Amino acid sequence: MRKRHGRKPKVWPLIDLLFDELMRLLINDCINIFIVKDLRCPKTGQKLDGLLNGDDENEIKIFIDRDIDKNEKTLTLIHELLHYIFPDTPEGRIRLLEKSAWRELSDIQRKALGDYLPKRTSRRKVT
Ligand SMILES: [Zn+2]
Repeated sequence: MRKRHGRKPKVWPLIDLLFDELMRLLINDCINIFIVKDLRCPKTGQKLDGLLNGDDENEIKIFIDRDIDKNEKTLTLIHELLHYIFPDTPEGRIRLLEKSAWRELSDIQRKALGDYLPKRTSRRKVT
């Protein structure tokens, strides 16, 4: 076993597998991320941090509200990707998974995911 210097031991070893899967989705799958102003649920009008639309399998869309900070945006991206990976998993469980993932991800992993967030606000219609 190789010793890891300067890294906190991982409580949840599966995090590296999850991280690889999240990165694979961002790199390979047709997932488009849109940063939008005043994100709301198109059906209910409720204010949201993030929204996944996977209805069109040719273009998976993730919308993220512009006015949350960078860490919250990355966290929201992870949350919506988890919905994509586990489509039948209830919201509460996705939130638990998101929180565990965030706690366990290294700073470098968090940054790698955050680097996929577009810098500019999109005018794309939320669907
Ligand atoms: Zn959710």
